[in-house]
Amino acid sequence: MNIDVAAVTKQFGTFTALNAVDLHIASGELLALLGPSGSGKTTLLRIIAGLEWPDSGEVRFDGQDALDRSVRERDVGFVFQHYALFRHMSVFENIAFGLRVKPRRERKSEAEIRAHVSRLLELVQIGELADRFPAQLSGGQRQRVALARALAIEPKVLLLDEPFGALDAKVRKDLRRWLRHLHEELHVTSILVTHDQEEALDVADRVVVMDRGQIVQVGSAQDIYEQPATSFVHDFIGESIVLNATLDQGAVRVGEAEVGRTERSNGRARLFVRPHDVSLVTPQEGPLTGEVRALRALGPNQRVEIALDDITGESRLVEVEAGRNRHLGIGEKVGLKLDRYRLFEARP
Ligand code: ATP
Repeated sequence: MNIDVAAVTKQFGTFTALNAVDLHIASGELLALLGPSGSGKTTLLRIIAGLEWPDSGEVRFDGQDALDRSVRERDVGFVFQHYALFRHMSVFENIAFGLRVKPRRERKSEAEIRAHVSRLLELVQIGELADRFPAQLSGGQRQRVALARALAIEPKVLLLDEPFGALDAKVRKDLRRWLRHLHEELHVTSILVTHDQEEALDVADRVVVMDRGQIVQVGSAQDIYEQPATSFVHDFIGESIVLNATLDQGAVRVGEAEVGRTERSNGRARLFVRPHDVSLVTPQEGPLTGEVRALRALGPNQRVEIALDDITGESRLVEVEAGRNRHLGIGEKVGLKLDRYRLFEARP
């Protein structure tokens, strides 16, 4: 099922949680809504689910108005961060629940329910846990049950709100791989809300970045990382070094140093650079100079913390990446060359 959100606005009192949001979600897509806390992700998800109504705007499922349909009529499955499973029901019964409460004319026979739940248990790889109770499961296992329960009603849309948020890093990583594979098998149109950029970039076909109630960029993980549309996105996705720059007759200057050329007109700008886009050179070669403050091994590379000389900006102390074969000492003077950077508007 495809979903269209058009000009959706939602206020809570005088606070605008969503401001004229437009979004198209293609049938069978796994889309991630990514943004900081309070950016409106959950509100948008709840409006799509039918748990909340917009003040204005439209939501369409396969071109049909969805706003006049109840949650049940929308055929959506949910998994939340703390999806309370029924404590007094076994895993099997938790998953079967949605099937048992269906109106009589839609209800499957007991034999069909058992077969269906068994298939789901296999699908989410917890076949051996069918008779356990929620208290006897790990957090990761509980979320698998929650997902199987959401899938039991064969929803047309699957809504996942920070489903792995409460789990530790290792389990999270395993579960998101697994979710990706599950999605490749089922192709249910799915929306995953997360504030974890790695999770969004890892799992989703497309990532929607939200900031203060608006969508600021939509694209593949790579697009968003390589071509951030705004300084907010550059800062939010991946690591950034941020420097104050002046644009002067085609020169991009940081302090006195010319770090590159531009076609923009004279003025001020904020310069964003990724740590791996900085090359360490000798102090004579570098347009920028600084002193090594700390060194930390990181796989085949090392992270080098450098205090820049005579620089104003948000990042006087910067961390860059260099090969391990580059021998550096604390206190050593180095030069820095910016191989790639982006310019955004200066703060007013
Ligand atoms: P988080 O990652 O923290 O869940 P989010 O991006 O999902 O954040 P929302 O939960 O959509 O953000 O909330 C957006 C804003 O709307 C927040 O500032 C929140 O306080 C506010 N808000 C949400 N629901 C209500 C409500 N029922 N009444 C008043 N304000 C609300």
